[in-house]
Amino acid sequence: MLKKITSLLPGFNCGNCGYSQCEDFALSLINGEEELCTCPVLKRQAFAANKTSIEKLIQKQNRDNNHNIITGVIDNYKADIVLKPLKNEKSCRETLLPFCTIDLKAGDIIKYRPLGCPITHIAKIIDRQYSLITVAITGPDNDRNIGNNAVIDVGICMVLAFQGRYEGKTLKVGETIRFLPHHCMMQKIHSGVVVQIEKGKVRIEIIDLKVWGMPKINSTNT
Ligand code: SF4
Repeated sequence: MLKKITSLLPGFNCGNCGYSQCEDFALSLINGEEELCTCPVLKRQAFAANKTSIEKLIQKQNRDNNHNIITGVIDNYKADIVLKPLKNEKSCRETLLPFCTIDLKAGDIIKYRPLGCPITHIAKIIDRQYSLITVAITGPDNDRNIGNNAVIDVGICMVLAFQGRYEGKTLKVGETIRFLPHHCMMQKIHSGVVVQIEKGKVRIEIIDLKVWGMPKINSTNT
């Protein structure tokens, strides 16, 4: 469904809908967050047939069923959802607990390695509350996104939460899920507990890079 709708969108990736990629706008349509009229390009006569096709696809879709299987590359686990950026952001958000004593603030660009992950991340701080910072990833070393800002090396951080728009199965607050952050450079499945769901957006806490196998229930135990 996501691919089909994306292929019917103009493909300009112009950002006028508030999403930098047509694919992200397509996901927001599937999740019911946005209306088709938010894309001004689709109003052009040349895209009238595409607009009609997208409307039909959205009417037909069944959000609770028929999801693609999302599989991690590193360990081949299956994920319940893939986590994508919030509107106007570059990646889904991560809430971090840095172990350093540097005084950080919103807007700072930091370099860090999540505890348990071998890859150094570059991210922009969106918010800070007490010792916790919330960031959006800009890449492993994406100079274009860093501009003239100095990168502050904060060392290892514990990743406590993720937040973003999601694609996949219907979620329930309180359940433990496996998920794939769309920006994850290892395409590794993470696990965590769903603490908040709102209109296609989810917050997941108690993040773990280890994914524990589910024990089988042996009904013949005596
Ligand atoms: S406004 Fe339309 S063409 Fe531009 S990025 Fe959004 S969906 Fe794509």
